[in-house]
Amino acid sequence: MERIYFDNAATTGLDPQVLAVMMPYLTDKFGNPSSIYSYGRESRLAIENSRKSVAKILNAHPAEIFFTSGGTESSNTAITAAVHDLGCVHIITSPLEHHATLHTVEHLHKRGEAALSYVNVLPNGHLDMEDLERKLAASGEKTLVTLMHANNEIGNMLDIHSVGELCKLYGALFHSDTVQTVGHFPFDLRNTPVHFITGSGHKFHGPKGVGLLYINENVRINPLIHGGSQERNMRAGTENVYGIVGFARALELATAAYEQDSAYIKGLKIYMMEQLKRQLKGVSFNGDPLGRSLYTVLSVSFPKTERSEMLLFNLDIHHICASGGSACTSGAEHGSHVIRAVNNNPNQVTVRFSFSKHNTRQEIDHVVGKLKEMI
Ligand code: PLP
Repeated sequence: MERIYFDNAATTGLDPQVLAVMMPYLTDKFGNPSSIYSYGRESRLAIENSRKSVAKILNAHPAEIFFTSGGTESSNTAITAAVHDLGCVHIITSPLEHHATLHTVEHLHKRGEAALSYVNVLPNGHLDMEDLERKLAASGEKTLVTLMHANNEIGNMLDIHSVGELCKLYGALFHSDTVQTVGHFPFDLRNTPVHFITGSGHKFHGPKGVGLLYINENVRINPLIHGGSQERNMRAGTENVYGIVGFARALELATAAYEQDSAYIKGLKIYMMEQLKRQLKGVSFNGDPLGRSLYTVLSVSFPKTERSEMLLFNLDIHHICASGGSACTSGAEHGSHVIRAVNNNPNQVTVRFSFSKHNTRQEIDHVVGKLKEMI
């Protein structure tokens, strides 16, 4: 059997239709978008058309959309600006955030620029909203709340509207890492009380190294990266034209097929849960997989045995790609900070399976069969 790729929360394959629209900008149409001659202006037009398309899909204004190098840069920009430019001296986040958020807030905290609080996590991996409200009410200072929309390891989804309303009530700024949901969720930003959201092309069959930062029109910040006047002085550096064009096309395709693809992928996730429960003893699922959860992610804990300790390694030998946590931590010795926060059971081994429209039930049958041999 060929490789089975169940790690779509880490990254996804580029859609050939996306590559097709990128190709001219990788070859003939290499003009610099900042050049004044028409050959450069063609590249500029491609970027602005991409911005319009992305804005329309997210129901935002084109002036609120900035292209970056990815989710990490977008979150760094938003969080740092909230502290440096918007007067936030207290950050409320959660222990379940991606390192793009956690390491940024820890950095600001270590430099003495912001106090830091973590919202309590409930056993099902959702955040304790009462604790969030308590922390907001007790914070007498300008506060930034940064909480992710869907967790990349367990799939739990935040009620972004409720959190946004709470932030409004207490005058806090709200940034949400939406890297796992842009391209997988129907956004309506004009009716969502959020100041910043982020996106990353490679999570929905677009290119790597290109991302999105939405900055609500009522917010004015300084750039994180200084230099030229690209992205209306918000993000210096010659634009990643083919990446931006690819990002927009990938988002258009994902949006057009959302109903069908999300239902199909959710079916795969549920099927895998059923098969695992039926065929393997002692499996459990982290988070709230059948509740408020992203349809692409399934986090499974297996009983720890001498054999299962080598699970990821053995899956790899059988050409099955899955991960222990987020891609950036899968090689680390400490295990996943997310799994530690929701299920700190030393007698279990946790694997994240994450699906795309290219996966099939036959692949799940094959993987479950192999898992039976490995546990
Ligand atoms: N936030 C989350 C939730 C992610 O899953 C990722 C994935 O890598 C990132 C941020 C970082 O995005 P990027 O790889 O585009 O920097």
